[in-house]
Amino acid sequence: MPLVSLADIQLAAARIGPVVVRTALEPSPSLSRLAGVPVHLKMEHRQRTGAFKLRGASNAVLSLPPGTRGVVAASTGNHGRALAHAAREAGLACTICLSRLVPANKVAAVEALGARVHIRGDSQDDAQREADRLAAAEGLVGVPPFDHPAIVAGQGTIGLEIVEDLPDVETVLVPLSGGGLIAGVAAAVKALSPRARVVGVSMERGAAMATSLQAGRPIEVEELPTLADSLGGGIGLSNDWTFEATRQLVDEVVLVTEAEIAAGIRHVYQEEREIVEGAAAVGIAALLSGRVRPRGATAVLLTGRNIDPGLHLRILNGADALEQDA
Ligand SMILES: *Cc1c(COP(=O)(O)O)cnc(C)c1O
Repeated sequence: MPLVSLADIQLAAARIGPVVVRTALEPSPSLSRLAGVPVHLKMEHRQRTGAFKLRGASNAVLSLPPGTRGVVAASTGNHGRALAHAAREAGLACTICLSRLVPANKVAAVEALGARVHIRGDSQDDAQREADRLAAAEGLVGVPPFDHPAIVAGQGTIGLEIVEDLPDVETVLVPLSGGGLIAGVAAAVKALSPRARVVGVSMERGAAMATSLQAGRPIEVEELPTLADSLGGGIGLSNDWTFEATRQLVDEVVLVTEAEIAAGIRHVYQEEREIVEGAAAVGIAALLSGRVRPRGATAVLLTGRNIDPGLHLRILNGADALEQDA
């Protein structure tokens, strides 16, 4: 499988420009002091729908052939929201499949974005089977959350913006789960700035890509509850795009603990007045804990802000893990 190219990412940027926010890259005095290098934060948690996933979802939707009946996905999280929003913007029908275990407020949030919700089964796998069934039965196009070239190219537009705003960037820290984000960002950054190092950051609890890279092939890992819930889930045993791209383009992958993620969420709130979810705090966690030693001008991606307000408050009050009262 060939990798997504710089030209693919530039095309995606032109396509999605009108429907996504070009987010700021802001210097962080506190992190620059701590790390001893200039640190900049890419404010992608301020993206529409609260996470960067709108870029990939919009690129996928806007790349569909005319006459497409609609799109379908199984996701309760940031991808589901992004796809529902992108489909509505494009005037396309969207169905999101959820399991019965998904809380009512999440169902309502997807419905509020104009998507049809199908509730089936008791697990994410059941919901995915329903999405596959609907795709076949109704002629809908399934849009996966990361392992798809249009998704990778859309997320890669973040890399274009980082190099445009910080041409001498030498280190980029990227939250890593399925790898759609890092595959796109690394492709863009390395094409424009070959000296730059791209570092992936995952949580220790259930790091599927890190385990797979070590094994040299996609591996299933047990999914564990984590503050970085948007980084949970596997990379797919028959991964087509993101495993190979990550293997080839990413210089290093580091893992952070739950307590380090909590410290990252607190730091970015106290020092920058930004609210981010756990998945978005892992880059800062890696800097604060010293697990990454950045070289030169450094960009840290803040990827999303969709955290439960009660959980955010507990963390600000000192909680260092899920379910732990301060
Ligand atoms: C999806 C997501 C990620 C990880 O992106 P991948 O393409 O799966 O690696 C990171 N942060 C947030 C907030 C996300 O929603």
